[in-house]
Amino acid sequence: AHAALAPEVEDKEEETVEETEKAVVVPDRFQYVLIGGGTASYSAMLGIQEVDPTAEILIIAGERYGPYQRPPLSKELWFSEDPEVTSHLQFTNWEGKQTSLFYQDANEYEQVDAADLHPTGSGVKLVTGHRAVALDVDAQTVTLDNGTTVPYGKVLLATGGTPRTLADQKALPEAAQKRVVTYRSVDDFKKLAAVAAQGKHVAVIGGGFLGSELSVALAKKTKVTQVFPEDGNMALVFPRYLARWTTQQVQKEGVAVLSKSKVTALKYDAESDQIVIETNGVQHKFDHVVVAVGIEPNVELARQAGLEIDPVRGGIVVNAELEARRNVFCAGDNVSFHDVALGRRRVEHYDAAVLGGRWAGRSMAGKPKAFTHQSMFWSDLGPKIGYEAMGILDSSLVTVGVWGQQPAADVPAAPAAAAEGEDKAAVPAAPAKPKDDFKKGVVFYVRDDTIVGCLMFNIHGKVDVARRVLLGKHKPAEANELPSSSTSLRK
Ligand code: FAD
Ligand code: NAD
Repeated sequence: AHAALAPEVEDKEEETVEETEKAVVVPDRFQYVLIGGGTASYSAMLGIQEVDPTAEILIIAGERYGPYQRPPLSKELWFSEDPEVTSHLQFTNWEGKQTSLFYQDANEYEQVDAADLHPTGSGVKLVTGHRAVALDVDAQTVTLDNGTTVPYGKVLLATGGTPRTLADQKALPEAAQKRVVTYRSVDDFKKLAAVAAQGKHVAVIGGGFLGSELSVALAKKTKVTQVFPEDGNMALVFPRYLARWTTQQVQKEGVAVLSKSKVTALKYDAESDQIVIETNGVQHKFDHVVVAVGIEPNVELARQAGLEIDPVRGGIVVNAELEARRNVFCAGDNVSFHDVALGRRRVEHYDAAVLGGRWAGRSMAGKPKAFTHQSMFWSDLGPKIGYEAMGILDSSLVTVGVWGQQPAADVPAAPAAAAEGEDKAAVPAAPAKPKDDFKKGVVFYVRDDTIVGCLMFNIHGKVDVARRVLLGKHKPAEANELPSSSTSLRK
């Protein structure tokens, strides 16, 4: 076996791992196998390399691409005026720099053939277009969809999630299937960009992160109607007044919004070659439909391997070092981890995949450390709405908003008319109803008298303050000094 995998070596310091590596001649297993070609996997690669720079790492990417980031797929790539954007996948990032969706160029990995996988002892190897279909945690092997079995020393499950579909979706005739799609990948972007370029009328079903971002982005290119059951955009996350205000802004960006509209039927009209969405007893026809109704974490591989699955949140259960079983680690959207500040959680956001991946990678390479860092997340809904957030943002919690102007919802009701004979002068005048305008503010989410979440609406660069608030370590005097903690993975 690869010498660095021997248990006594795992506990030693970094220098010892490097020295031991020099003694390796022909390893009979891959030192590290990372299943999944997303953010968590790529970040784990960097985490391993921080500890063990010459480590042999095999990345198994189910898509036909090497690791890439997803956030620009519903934002920046759509705002590009470059007609070639679907081929080069470059975008202008928040620093104004032209950057690629891919973390590294394909030729920076050693691309290997899934049918011919042999450990050599060092270097990053990448298999694309093949999925891991079986995991044996006792024999320490992963089997690929072509039947190849790969022995590993340590394995990471970073398989992300799969978009949910609607009940009627699979029953649609074949002609309609390509018109009713989910959205998560580069290939999904390429297909939807082609639809938008033809000026088709697109319906986006879902009022969450993806549905809202994508609707605003698509409105720059084509006609869009967003359909969802809640009272406003992001209503499961934002307090009601903010969800309603946000909906008005989304409409100003050109999106027709059908809120309070649960889709009760999805059909195909062969005559017009359109998709019919029924909601509130009314039928609406569209050329194309994007279903954005959340994801299911990809845990089948783990379930089949006998790993514990969180019955409530649906992720793979890991300890504080992101280890599910000995030598088996997990990171990203598919993980149910214990957050020491906020309790058990599963987080479907980029920064959690970056940090979780890095932590898992370092743990895999023999530098375990509890994953105690609070990740942040962000979203943009057109040029007027951008927010950063941390912790648990659940609109069913009590919220306290601090805004430049007081929201109407927080204004006390006008006092009842003075009773007959009462001294009218003693009744205070109703405060004038302020104009609802939530351009800038902070919303705190409270559970059991404790702040568990913080939304910074159109306020940037204060996530470290939010982190301290959540951890109860906030020093008010520091509030204006702190930089943003968002991380770039692009090499
Ligand atoms: P993924 O990125 O999904 O990667 C998992 C990969 O594993 C996939 O490529 C999948 O094909 C592959 N895979 C699955 N099973 C197997 C298998 N058995 N074998 C091999 N490979 C497999 N978050 C934010 O905080 N801010 C944003 O602005 C933001 N924007 C987003 C925009 C879009 C369009 C989407 C879809 C998500 C966005 N997110 C955002 C969420 C963020 O991208 C995810 O939280 C993050 O991608 C999770 O990383 P991951 O590595 O866990 O999973
Ligand atoms: P989500 O969980 O944010 O939102 C799900 C939405 O689905 C709900 O708001 C609801 O409106 C809708 N929904 C659920 N059941 C429905 C039904 N039967 N009919 C109609 N609508 C229904 O998930 P999403 O918006 O689909 O996003 C997909 C994934 O991508 C998530 O993991 C999300 O976190 C991630 N994402 C994150 C960001 C970000 O952090 N800025 C941006 C885009 C995507």
